Amino acid sequence: MINIGAHLSISKGFTAAAKTAVAIDSNTFQYFPRNPRGGAIKKLDEEDVKGFFDTVKINNLSNILSHAPYTYNLSSNKEDVRRFARAAFREDLERLEFLPVNLYNLHPGSHTGNGIDIGIEYIVDMLNDIITDDITSTVLLETMSGKGSEIGSTFEELARIIDGVRQKDKMGVCMDSCHLFSAGYDIVNDLDGVLEEFDKVIGLDKLKGIHLNDSMKPFSENKDRHAGIGEGLIGLDPLISLITHPKLKRLPFYLETPFEVEGHKREIKLIKKIIWERGISFE
Ligand code: FE
Ligand code: FE
Ligand code: ZN
Repeated sequence: MINIGAHLSISKGFTAAAKTAVAIDSNTFQYFPRNPRGGAIKKLDEEDVKGFFDTVKINNLSNILSHAPYTYNLSSNKEDVRRFARAAFREDLERLEFLPVNLYNLHPGSHTGNGIDIGIEYIVDMLNDIITDDITSTVLLETMSGKGSEIGSTFEELARIIDGVRQKDKMGVCMDSCHLFSAGYDIVNDLDGVLEEFDKVIGLDKLKGIHLNDSMKPFSENKDRHAGIGEGLIGLDPLISLITHPKLKRLPFYLETPFEVEGHKREIKLIKKIIWERGISFE
């Protein structure tokens, strides 16, 4: 069976989000642990957490992914921005210990003028500071589009970060199809080549999930604008090839397309229909 889900809101609680995942025929989902613009984290509700565990178990949900809010910048040149990111990131990871979630996706950071080397140093230091023995989750660095001073738009930069982290077994990567395309990795014409490159530089064993998006912006322009599946410049067939690639098909896929729940439901249905029509096995 294909592992697919969408980005869902937890504003009505974890249980409601997990039930929505089931209602749109998916077996995983991604969520922001707090308002994407930052802000305080809500206290955990005991009933909700219990309902979340139950819903996950009954429906066999897995690979649920917490996505760090966009406001965290581990490599900002401003100390107060880094201090906020550190505290919130650590709090998010601690919370996962109480939830049926053990994956945490992070945009590595933007160096905001300090340059890549100092930026990477800040990120590595913070990851080493935060990922202590009591944290059991895996932190996934997302492949970025490279807009502005974003770090992580090349596999080499991600590899340098992982290399610097002591607890490497708690580090992984989440590919984002829109970001790969806009960063200049040709997943349309040479997916095999891109995966070979990833394997050589980072190692495919580190790849733990994929954000499934089309791109509104052209190839290699370092612009980050997600489009619906088959509605952008990547196109439906290359995205299906990505989902069904022998080296990728067992991974969890998360839709981050610019739709609400109904739109994601439609996309999941479309993807499953094509896979079924083409007789592709996910066993
Ligand atoms: Fe992201
Ligand atoms: Fe993404
Ligand atoms: Zn994006």
